[in-house]
Amino acid sequence: MTNRILIITGDSADAKTLKDVLRKAKDGPFDIEWLTRLADALKRLNAGGIDAMLVDLSLPDSQGIETFDKLFAAAPTIPILTLSAEDDEALATEAVQHGSQGYLSKGHFGSYLVPQSLRNIIQRKAVEETLYVEKARAEITLNSISDAVIGTDMSGNVDYLNLAAERMTGWPKEEARGHPIAKVMKIINGVTREPQPNPIELVLKQNKPMGLKAGTILIRGDGSEVAIEDSTAPIHDSSGQISGAVMVFHDITAAQAMTMKMAHLAQHDFLTNLPNRVLLNDRIAQAIVQAERRGTQVAVLFLDLDNFKHINDSLGHEIGDKLLQSVAQRLSACVRGSDTVSRQGGDEFVVLVTEDKYVENATLTADKILNALAVSHFVSGHELHVTTSIGISAYPADAQDAETLIKNADTAMYQAKEKGRNNYQFFKSGMNARAVERQIIEAHLRHALARQEFVLHYQPKINLASGMITGAEALLRWMHPERGMVLPERFVPIAEDCGLIVPIGHWVLREACMQAKRWQDAGLQPASVAVNISALEFRHKNFVANVRAILSETGLKPSCLQLEITESVLMRDAESSTAILQQLKTMGVQLAVDDFGTGYSSLSYLKQFPIDVLKIDQSFVQDIGSTHYNDGVIVSAVIAMGTSLKQRVVAEGVEEEVQLAFLKAQNCEEGQGYFFSRPLGAEQFATLLATGIAETVEN
Ligand code: C2E
Ligand code: MG
Ligand code: MG
Repeated sequence: MTNRILIITGDSADAKTLKDVLRKAKDGPFDIEWLTRLADALKRLNAGGIDAMLVDLSLPDSQGIETFDKLFAAAPTIPILTLSAEDDEALATEAVQHGSQGYLSKGHFGSYLVPQSLRNIIQRKAVEETLYVEKARAEITLNSISDAVIGTDMSGNVDYLNLAAERMTGWPKEEARGHPIAKVMKIINGVTREPQPNPIELVLKQNKPMGLKAGTILIRGDGSEVAIEDSTAPIHDSSGQISGAVMVFHDITAAQAMTMKMAHLAQHDFLTNLPNRVLLNDRIAQAIVQAERRGTQVAVLFLDLDNFKHINDSLGHEIGDKLLQSVAQRLSACVRGSDTVSRQGGDEFVVLVTEDKYVENATLTADKILNALAVSHFVSGHELHVTTSIGISAYPADAQDAETLIKNADTAMYQAKEKGRNNYQFFKSGMNARAVERQIIEAHLRHALARQEFVLHYQPKINLASGMITGAEALLRWMHPERGMVLPERFVPIAEDCGLIVPIGHWVLREACMQAKRWQDAGLQPASVAVNISALEFRHKNFVANVRAILSETGLKPSCLQLEITESVLMRDAESSTAILQQLKTMGVQLAVDDFGTGYSSLSYLKQFPIDVLKIDQSFVQDIGSTHYNDGVIVSAVIAMGTSLKQRVVAEGVEEEVQLAFLKAQNCEEGQGYFFSRPLGAEQFATLLATGIAETVEN
């Protein structure tokens, strides 16, 4: 490789000698340039490409060490040899102190050593340059990383800190240098708060890498604490001897907080912050182990809110979510600290009651919960009412593991729903079969409408004085392809739970109205029809509009349609019931309270509802003529009340002559029951309308 050498001297003889020896040199080839003035040399350096300089410090335009300094400042990376006069080696030595690589003495410029020295200094400078760049790169790297790096010598005294280490220890590099590592880096055990030996001390002793114990805390210069994690390794010199150690460590406070947060999220419900399924299962498993050891019991309460879906659908998810949060708070207030309230998802919660001698104690919690939830919730300006159905199962009586406990409590919860909601039921072993049955029915029910498996039967209502038919009640039947006719008791509650009752009810209403209109068109009288409306339909925001649309579509007069709503549905939210009833009443539709006497009517509301008909529940009618002590008393009372409220009273479930006679004697207006007719298909009912029923009654 050719090297370009710049000779700077005013002495042309010297220049010639140097040029000659360099041209001839075996170490070459050298390209040589010669300049006599400093100013020209500085200009030339600017243009670049020079590998080394031979400089006479006395130039026509510059004298002494200043000449060297200017050249060195202009090109600090280019090696310089000075050309020294015999009498001025002192100046040459000064130049070496200022950065010159060495000097050639006058009289030796023709020596074969000149090219060799030049070659050497060029190479040495190149190596120095590489080392310098590497060191700079390491320095920059160490200062840019977020990990802290501390180095010590063999005796454990600090000799290096990067910026992150300065920040974390609170010690500037200059101050820390020379101090023992234990002084610069105070570390303690996070739990015992005892000082911990610095790993550097151990590494220096054992000459092998190691890390800090988990849970180590660094106390910073200002006394604040950070959790840290490190790795420490020995440093070896070129002969392989240990010469010190380096420790790399970083702040894991944020990472630790994140890990804890993730762990919390994995075990808690984001909406209510209650333990989720995962954590609950864990706690139940623990509770079972303890109960086994101590001979106590564990109870699991499975809760499902009764009318949550309705609130969520009508008021929106945001309010639904807030209600769930409010419920979560109430539930948590009902249990002891050792118990667990968890959310399973949706509107389902599970409460784990531990360490009871008697599982019956779970009823105390269940009662508390029912009472606590019964108080209305105020959410975003709405006053909301929710009740809950609770199923209870217990270890060791009902199940041996967490999963089965929850499953059985769930089954018992369905039983509570069937028992009219807002109550609790204990698991009984026969319940499982019912739960399976339920699921099968629900699955089939989803297709029943599309497959046209529903039909309506009609049961006449009779004017007891005249024996004339006053109308029909439409009763839903499910013609199941395998099971045959399924009665509403078996599937209506399920359809109500899963919301299918809304489309099914819509079909019933439309079908019944069309049928009544057909009878009217065929000249059959009286063609008025009563349709049963369940809670979900009645509260549905489109209900009133749907009734109106169906009436206008089928052309049935509103007065020929009667809607039967059970007493408990009306009473659940009496204010809004009144509003809905009022709209229906305005439309001209007839309104009946079904199963009257089974709910807990408040008389003041009953007076306020625009009701036309009270249907006495069949259980009271069936008491008539029995040996029961209050034989017929309630029936008489209801009839009297209906009369005073100017409502017609219909007695349901009339099966026997004695019942009819009693009702007639009490001046009950209408009756319905097997005594007159069972529910019939539409065609049979038409025949009944044509022939009448009066004879049967007379007989
Ligand atoms: P409900 O509205 O009280 O209807 C009267 C029930 O009593 C009917 O049962 C009827 O067949 C039965 N019944 C009539 N006379 C007698 C009698 O003399 N003795 C006895 N033991 N029972 C008699 P069904 O058809 O099984 O319906 C049961 C319940 O299912 C109904 O009670 C009603 O609440 C509900 N339901 C029926 N159809 C529908 C419907 O289309 N939609 C809704 N949401 N519910 C319906
Ligand atoms: Mg009815
Ligand atoms: Mg009824």
